[in-house]
Amino acid sequence: MGATGQDTLKARRTLSVGDAQYDYFSLADAGLGDISRLPFSLKVLLENMLRHEDGRTVTIDDVKAVAAWLETRSSTREIAYRPARVLMQDFTGVPAVVDLAAMREAMTALGGDPERINPLSPVDLVIDHSVMVDHYASADALERNMDLEFERNGERYAFLRWGQKAFDNFRVVPPGVGICHQVNLEYLARTVWSSEDQTGKMVAYPDTLVGTDSHTTMVNGLGVLGWGVGGIEAEAAMLGQPVSMLIPEVIGFKLTGSLKEGTTATDLVLTVTQMLRAKGVVGKFVEYFGPGLASMPLADRATIANMAPEYGATCGIFPIDSETLRYLRDTGRSDEQVALVEAYAKAQGMWRDDAAPEPVYTDTLELDLGDVEPSLAGPRRPQDRIALSGAAGAFAEALKDMAAQGEPRTVPVEGADYSLSDGDVVIAAITSCTNTSNPSVLLAAGLLAKNAVAKGLTRKPWVKTSLAPGSQVVTDYLAKAGLQDPLNALGFNIAGYGCTTCIGNSGPLDGPIADAIDDNGLVAGAVLSGNRNFEGRISPQVRANYLASPPLVVAYAIAGTMAKDLTTEPLGEDTDGNPVYLKDIWPSAHDVAEAVTANVKAEMFNARYGNVFDGPAQWKSIQVAEGKTYEWAPGSTYVQNPPYFEGMDMTPKPPTDIVNARPLAVLADSVTTDHISPAGSIKGDSPAGHYLQGHQVPVREFNSYGSRRGNHEVMMRGTFANIRIKNEMVPGSEGGVTKHLPEGTVMPIYDAAMAYKGEGVPLVVVAGKEYGTGSSRDWAAKGTVLLGVKAVIVESFERIHRSNLVGMGVLPLQFKDGATRKTLGLDGSETFTITGVADITPRQDVTVTITRADGSSEEVVTTCRIDTLDELEYFRNGGILQYVLRSLAAA
Ligand code: SF4
Repeated sequence: MGATGQDTLKARRTLSVGDAQYDYFSLADAGLGDISRLPFSLKVLLENMLRHEDGRTVTIDDVKAVAAWLETRSSTREIAYRPARVLMQDFTGVPAVVDLAAMREAMTALGGDPERINPLSPVDLVIDHSVMVDHYASADALERNMDLEFERNGERYAFLRWGQKAFDNFRVVPPGVGICHQVNLEYLARTVWSSEDQTGKMVAYPDTLVGTDSHTTMVNGLGVLGWGVGGIEAEAAMLGQPVSMLIPEVIGFKLTGSLKEGTTATDLVLTVTQMLRAKGVVGKFVEYFGPGLASMPLADRATIANMAPEYGATCGIFPIDSETLRYLRDTGRSDEQVALVEAYAKAQGMWRDDAAPEPVYTDTLELDLGDVEPSLAGPRRPQDRIALSGAAGAFAEALKDMAAQGEPRTVPVEGADYSLSDGDVVIAAITSCTNTSNPSVLLAAGLLAKNAVAKGLTRKPWVKTSLAPGSQVVTDYLAKAGLQDPLNALGFNIAGYGCTTCIGNSGPLDGPIADAIDDNGLVAGAVLSGNRNFEGRISPQVRANYLASPPLVVAYAIAGTMAKDLTTEPLGEDTDGNPVYLKDIWPSAHDVAEAVTANVKAEMFNARYGNVFDGPAQWKSIQVAEGKTYEWAPGSTYVQNPPYFEGMDMTPKPPTDIVNARPLAVLADSVTTDHISPAGSIKGDSPAGHYLQGHQVPVREFNSYGSRRGNHEVMMRGTFANIRIKNEMVPGSEGGVTKHLPEGTVMPIYDAAMAYKGEGVPLVVVAGKEYGTGSSRDWAAKGTVLLGVKAVIVESFERIHRSNLVGMGVLPLQFKDGATRKTLGLDGSETFTITGVADITPRQDVTVTITRADGSSEEVVTTCRIDTLDELEYFRNGGILQYVLRSLAAA
């Protein structure tokens, strides 16, 4: 944790748990009045403020503002929050480790000890996003998919192996072990954390984290506050800098009753997602409460928490109660840890039971669990829930929209003895930590498979089936229950321990099936137990994607089509030719509960997680580079040393005025981070495509921008390269082009930026409202600075992108007094001069002199959107990484 604060409010107390003693910061003893009805999640934030109150980043007023939320139930105050730890997956984790490696090199250049560069907060990186389902429905599918995974990702994995060895406080869970959020839930999370502070005393505090993956919220089910952030915030958090956030609104979701026979946690979460989307909870915390919690297993809570990004909330949290303790115990956490969680939660008023006062919320909504019915969601969005009984009808409706003629077609499949129709399910995947963390739905899938096999049912031959659990414990309990064999019989052999279909790594469909779909424009279906189903995400050939519980995934693999009503039509025939209905093979809630009790054992978790960092043979055999600094491979197209620290010395040079800057782009409202830094495919005729081909990478091996985030050469060429971005400097254009001025040649944005760099011309970007909206993406800011952009002048910023720009040393300015690019008549032919940059202060007025092509000029007053003194320090240092590097070098 590092240092605790100055404890001005004298709230530090001692907690005895068995023989152990912990200090903690008592909410009740801080003199803040009666805060007992503060939502659980805000108690966690309040404790964080209290523990870190240092008079600078966290003031007494910040502490009081969180407590005062009870009066207003909302707040506009920004606070500096310090999560206990950081969780990463490999897609987003590689660039973060690249930055740490670059900082080590820079530390050496500054004459310091590179080993000073280490995460200050514990960091865990789980390699889970890269395994693909190339092989399926065979006994060796797992092994063959893993071989391919290592073949494709050798460079990245060798780099992470070096990081695993080189950094303290940094652990890597190797490929083939599990999925980050499930590993977090089952092993890494502690609910209450403890560590020594600067006095050498052990301090207990709530387990909190940020993660570089949006579904970090899954651990909210365990009472752990956490959510997904972009890479720059995660790097800042791991280097001891606070995360800046508003004290949020908290929406209370009251649960009553219990699930009825035939419904699952998946049906529940699809219902919750639909309700919260309709309510509108973007940017808010959601907190669950009410009598329904008493009978809700923790695994179901985690499933609901997982989908917070789908319902739009920052998090979806459950308080700590006896079920939390049961889960911790049953997943092999020590008795001492469980005792600490109970004692701490009770001492801090964070314990939920019937006697606890009901929290107050900004707003509430309510669901009787008994009203939940078997459901799917699709065909395109997770919030579009449909009752199972209406699924066939809903598909028929969707088909009218998706296929021009609206009537189902049937086409032959070359070399096969079957044909394919619109609505046929070509992918059935038990995938995603959303559900594979939940033993009841996985055992239900196994029991349904067993019942189906007993009746002689089989999967349809056109269905690509896969099972990809988020931890190896799943294999243990399915095997113990005798249910992996019937799953195998229906094609649900283990395909990998990782994200697979959930992240779109469903692998290619069999050639003739893909051809039949492509050649005829068929609307094929997929049924998966994941959390996202946007068009194109799951497979390029599948347009109708449905989210459903694992047992329904198995049922649809047998039915083979979305056009069948599984509640009224038979799935198939038994060995005697009699029709078999879904209800005939659906396991009872009692059978599922018994299977969970009999087969999910604490010793399985202990055994599997006892060697979680060892990894498979392929991982162990990677040659690990020695050395405190990384030997960058000059030819690598995946990992390169970024130039952020080139020419850096101990004393930052004062920021200079920006004189006669040219606009690189003039953009409209709501430009997203994906417009600025796309994650998807790389076009062959783009600057990034040319770079890769120049490095002997053929187009088929381009991979995505997302997978190449460890190479700044690719990423800077991809900045503003989204095929949908519209630069008003080139009217009517779409894609990343601009005009190089003054002569006006139209060219790719990257090429223009490099031309300006050669000419020594600084750059600005001008845009409308909500600039940088969408998911937090560090490369949107990193790419901007690497192109030579010194300032971004807009009508308004999305909050996180603004702070990322400052974090990379780019000056964010906001038009004021109603001025916009339109009222000013800007077309990009102007030059911009910004003076006084060296003495800039947070939120001050900054005058921008705009000189037009005809030589006339005018002065426009803007607001400097460097908002805090900490941010000013980052800016003066050229960015947050440089600031931290100099601080550590000087320490
Ligand atoms: S399984 Fe899906 S939700 Fe879970 S970490 Fe992977 S991609 Fe994210």
